[in-house]
Amino acid sequence: MKVGVPRETVPGEQRVAIVPEAAAKLVAAKHEVIVESGAGTGSGHDDEAYRKAGATVSDRQAAFGADIVVKVQKPSAEEIGLLREGAAFIATLQPLTNKDAVKALAARRTTAFSMDMIPRVTRAQSMDSLSSQSNIAGYKAVLVAANSLPKFFPMLTTAAGTVTPARVLVLGAGVAGLQAIATARRLGAIVEAFDTRPVVKEQVQSLGAKFLEIELGEQGEGTGGYAKELSEEAHKKEQELVGKHVKDADVVITTALVPGRRAPILVTADMVRAMRAGSVVVDLAAEMGGNCELTEPGKTVVREGVTIHGEVNWPSTVAFHASQLYSRNVSALLAHLSKDGALALDLEDEITKGALITHEGQVVHAATKAALEKA
Ligand code: NAD
Repeated sequence: MKVGVPRETVPGEQRVAIVPEAAAKLVAAKHEVIVESGAGTGSGHDDEAYRKAGATVSDRQAAFGADIVVKVQKPSAEEIGLLREGAAFIATLQPLTNKDAVKALAARRTTAFSMDMIPRVTRAQSMDSLSSQSNIAGYKAVLVAANSLPKFFPMLTTAAGTVTPARVLVLGAGVAGLQAIATARRLGAIVEAFDTRPVVKEQVQSLGAKFLEIELGEQGEGTGGYAKELSEEAHKKEQELVGKHVKDADVVITTALVPGRRAPILVTADMVRAMRAGSVVVDLAAEMGGNCELTEPGKTVVREGVTIHGEVNWPSTVAFHASQLYSRNVSALLAHLSKDGALALDLEDEITKGALITHEGQVVHAATKAALEKA
């Protein structure tokens, strides 16, 4: 099977879907890998590295003309137009909100899989790019916060006296939040965290952070281990708790997401006003509207003396490892979908069914179909 690897074109995107290490493995598994020239440059891989891995380096047309095309970012209309009719496609489609691309892929008769829709089941852990990329975002959020903060993170005992450690508050303790907690602890900060899913309490504590407890009056856990949206009353209770802790924090890292919804506002403008000047907010939920009322998605702004980071693509800033891990996720999915070098789809298989969005001219993914009908 010919596997095409185009260069990513979304501004600022440095990652590539297949690094040379993964290309070599695909070649060994009897696939032909066609890479668009320059596709790996942003993540530190030149064309020569792909050639050495046994891939063919060619132009955009050739990469998009493959039997299966793999990308990081969702495709543009132009890119969908370059796909061969009936070809397969893998990317982070975000199909519930990216309706035009889904319709265009169906019209092109593309067999399209979305990395972000792979069920989070044990069998699919090696394919879980949401986790691999969130992990990077959580790590980078702490480094950026430490870099912006006019203070040390660790406690220091110096000849000039003792410096107190930074106080970090992490809201949302999923994959990104837990990595943020671990990284902030490694830098020596005092860390507090909150999540509406009480099951994470032990994980937070095992990383040496304090879990903030509050009686919400309801369970924050929905289906599949994910959070559900809180009632208005529970949301107010949470904001009250958050408000008390935000004012004493030097750094607030927010990661709270509810699948398919706008991110909940946890840090209001008033709370930011109450923070000490020089404090930092890193809002990892910016792409979904942000957990902080003053976040401007895609930008870093200073409001009320507080630096608020709303950048939306942290994994791309660690492009080498983000690409390496994403490649491994994609390769694991490819291995799952193929047999003897060709696609062999079992449409009843939980992973295949969960990730398959369009097939034979139809939108086949139940949640995506429902989102399209609602629109
Ligand atoms: P996510 O990115 O959707 O959400 C991030 C966090 O925000 C979650 O922990 C969520 O509970 C929290 N959150 C939502 N609303 C909130 C609010 N109002 N206040 C505070 N926190 C709020 O989730 P994720 O990090 O991708 O994963 C969440 C969970 O999914 C994991 O912890 C795990 O249970 C499950 N998971 C399973 C697997 C697997 O089995 N293979 C892999 C990864 C994740």
